[in-house]
Amino acid sequence: MIRHWIKSFFLWEFVKAHYLTLKYFFKPKATLNYPYEKNPLSPRFRGEHALRRYPNGEERCIACKLCEAVCPAVCITIESEPREDGSRRTTRYDIDMTKCIYCGLCQEACPVDAIVQGPNMEFSVETREELIYDKAKLLDNGDKWERTLAANIAADAPYR
Ligand code: SF4
Ligand code: SF4
Repeated sequence: MIRHWIKSFFLWEFVKAHYLTLKYFFKPKATLNYPYEKNPLSPRFRGEHALRRYPNGEERCIACKLCEAVCPAVCITIESEPREDGSRRTTRYDIDMTKCIYCGLCQEACPVDAIVQGPNMEFSVETREELIYDKAKLLDNGDKWERTLAANIAADAPYR
């Protein structure tokens, strides 16, 4: 009698397991085949940093240093000097990405939408030194992602 109960129990469990498998076999899958498939990102996604330019190619950053002052991780270093035309621009703009906590405060503080965090999250490197971003690297990022950055800022503007 006990043997019969045990057999029935295992048979029932077997049927249940296969029922579960079949149920999920025909459902839409919950996983993505990354990196070939990706989830949509919010316009507020805080990824890799970029320094933006105006459409005429001029740097947006006016070297006010608000981002440097507000950064809680103290990972932004700015040096600046006035140009011949009297405008002020940075001569150095570094971000130590190994210290950054991706809080977004630099972007929030910037009065001219110069420093922003874009949608790029795929910037792994092999050495620590490659994560010390200088001004050229940040401006390159800005040039590369400008269309997406501008669209994200416009989409988020009504809520700021
Ligand atoms: S995201 Fe935060 S921690 Fe990173 S540079 Fe900006 S203010 Fe600093
Ligand atoms: S990036 Fe913005 S907040 Fe930072 S120094 Fe330049 S203008 Fe000021």
